[in-house]
Amino acid sequence: MEFDPQYLAQAPHLVVFTGAGVSAESGIPTFRDALSGLWEHFDPAQLATPQAFRANPALVWGWYEWRRRKMLQAQPNPAHLAIAELARRVPRLTLITQNVDDLHERAGSPSVLHLHGSLHTPQCFACNRPFKGKLPCPDLPEQGGSLEPPRCSGCNGKIRPGVVWFGESLPQAILKAAFQAADDCDLLLSVGTSGLVQPAAQIPQRALQQGARVVHINPQPQECRAPQEYSLTGPAGQLLPQLVQRAFA
Ligand SMILES: [Zn+2]
Repeated sequence: MEFDPQYLAQAPHLVVFTGAGVSAESGIPTFRDALSGLWEHFDPAQLATPQAFRANPALVWGWYEWRRRKMLQAQPNPAHLAIAELARRVPRLTLITQNVDDLHERAGSPSVLHLHGSLHTPQCFACNRPFKGKLPCPDLPEQGGSLEPPRCSGCNGKIRPGVVWFGESLPQAILKAAFQAADDCDLLLSVGTSGLVQPAAQIPQRALQQGARVVHINPQPQECRAPQEYSLTGPAGQLLPQLVQRAFA
């Protein structure tokens, strides 16, 4: 069955759920693809766990600050812009992302549920207090390198990136809000995400279970099992602006 763009215009509550594919279209490599050059001999266990930070905080902080610089240099793409446009057009939109960059915010999306945290909200490793200091574009060599993390103004603990590491649970309040939106929505667009990682994969599933339409937008076709499930194949930066244009023409 073909997805009718009019469904977009008619949905009282729309959820947009985005993953790495949307950032990739802005030139941001996935975590694994970024493990090149200086970083090619590292694996996620050495860079993205609490144990790794404890063992070598400057290495881990340097890696994430290098990633953050790459993201600051990237620009929102037409998919980010189309989602921000949707938020202005529909009665209610909940935007949930697995991405740790701020490209949705910079595209103009008013509020974003960051399921995996954000590189722009670092916090104290010891006391969890949010870091209030300035976080300038890091002074690092082109290939990145180790960088001593700043210190917490409350307890002098080391500041860690505001992202969810392997072995950590997702922020519970945000996950709860995301599940509630999925349970309540009429239409969910799942964009640039394989839908395989739990518990994030439950978000489209929950929307389907309560009868909402679910549209997968991915470069690879997605198998659709439910009658109200659709797969649109291609770059989100092309498909989303087309959908918005056709829905509100
Ligand atoms: Zn602290």
